[in-house]
Amino acid sequence: MKLSHASWVERLTNFLHSVRFRMALWFALVLAVVMLVFSAFVYYRTWQDLRNETAARLTLRLSDYRTVVMHNYRENRGWWRMQGASATFVLEDEEALILSEMDGTVAASWGSLSPSVAKQVSAHVLQQTSGLYANWNNERLFTIYLIREAGDEHGMRYMFNPARITFDNRQVGWLIIGQPFDPEGRLPQLVLTLSLGGTFTLLLALIGGYWLADRALWPVKAITRTAQEISVTDLSRRINLNTRDELGELAGTFDRMLDRLQTAFDRQRQFTADASHELRTPLTIIELETGRALAAKRSVEEYRRALEVIQSENAFMSRLVGELLMLARMDAGQTVLKPEPLDLSDLALEVAERFAPLAVQKNVRLQTGDLPELPIQGDRQHLIQMIGNLIDNAIKYSPGGSGQWVCVETGAAQDANQPTAWMRVSDNGVGISAEHLPHLFDRFYRVDTARSHNPEESRTDDSHEEEIPGSGLGLSIVQWIAQMHGGSVTVTSEPGKGTTFEVRLPLHPNGTQIFSDNE
Ligand code: ADP
Repeated sequence: MKLSHASWVERLTNFLHSVRFRMALWFALVLAVVMLVFSAFVYYRTWQDLRNETAARLTLRLSDYRTVVMHNYRENRGWWRMQGASATFVLEDEEALILSEMDGTVAASWGSLSPSVAKQVSAHVLQQTSGLYANWNNERLFTIYLIREAGDEHGMRYMFNPARITFDNRQVGWLIIGQPFDPEGRLPQLVLTLSLGGTFTLLLALIGGYWLADRALWPVKAITRTAQEISVTDLSRRINLNTRDELGELAGTFDRMLDRLQTAFDRQRQFTADASHELRTPLTIIELETGRALAAKRSVEEYRRALEVIQSENAFMSRLVGELLMLARMDAGQTVLKPEPLDLSDLALEVAERFAPLAVQKNVRLQTGDLPELPIQGDRQHLIQMIGNLIDNAIKYSPGGSGQWVCVETGAAQDANQPTAWMRVSDNGVGISAEHLPHLFDRFYRVDTARSHNPEESRTDDSHEEEIPGSGLGLSIVQWIAQMHGGSVTVTSEPGKGTTFEVRLPLHPNGTQIFSDNE
């Protein structure tokens, strides 16, 4: 595949802007600085070693030569015939010895330097030791880069050590000894080694750094890829990185967020589907009833019955829509509770009295147990609805008849250092089997599907079992209200024996003194 110029440019730009490249570059840059400092240190140390070695050698040899020269001067009362005395000096290879007078004139020189270079060195010593340094006793070492003989291609760095020659406490001249500073070229070699090694190391660091950054960042690629694959309709994809590092933690957080999103979406979808389903049923029933009533001429009795069915379905729909609206507001966080000081027992009694006619109609004995004073803080309307839903269910799911009862009672308890008010609504009705209990507070969850709102059943007058209308939203609303008041609701039930719902709410601080000891 041939890539166009533009796409190459784009690829290169992307590469240069990538985190991997920048990380590698920074890595190499830091390493370069470290290596530069290290190289400078090594170079300085080697140079210092060389200098010390040469200086030590020069000083040692100089003291021997000085003795000879001083002796000679004393003998001859001057410098003459010194040049001829060269045989007395055994010079090392490349070593140079210069004897210069106080005015810088070279009295004699031995060794590797040409007379003109010797003159140059002597002049340098004169310059260095006059003026500012005139009274300086230290015999200073110095290095000069010089071309030893005319025609020499390369110059050489020499180190010199000048020594004062005195006679009768008076300086009469200088004896200057010199040796090549780095005859084996250790320093240039070191520079070459350091720069070659440094370049190679930097190159390796750049490639290695890029590889490491690439490896470290592959989870980011995985996260990006997964994020691209996720659409609103399919939230099932997960990164599943399973590493214990920071990126693993990020991916885990991302996965958990997706879990929550998926649950929320699924719930939303389920909610919409259930809500439409629940609404469709009564609409179908109304449709069937009106269709049947209008199909032919009916008796007054039949019209009345049709209207009753429509009225009851309408009532069901109104209630359902009300509950749906409430749930929607709850989900959107728009429900505002208006807390006020209340007495839970008073509320329970009030609601129980309201349901008394229904209980009588269903032939169920609605009784109250202990109802001590229980001050709580809560929203009156919502709490009435919560208690109402529970009592309504208890009556609704009792077959009715002699011996059937529903009991409402309240009390106080201590829950993990928190004074709590409790309210129980019990019945000896149909009960609920254990497998349903965990789902009871789910939205739209109804236990007996055979008894669900079925248009076919409502059509027939002779349906063997009476339908219990309901949407499956009542208990989820109860739970939400209890939780919004900082409390909870639990259920215990045995099929055929009965059911008990218990709501626990925090007691108002003023009510702490009213626990009964047996709780
Ligand atoms: P519904 O509108 O169907 O009553 P709820 O959320 O109030 O919805 O109740 C959910 C299901 O719990 C009901 O369908 C019913 O089967 C069961 N249930 C609730 N209360 C009782 C009770 N006191 N006795 C037996 N079953 C109950």
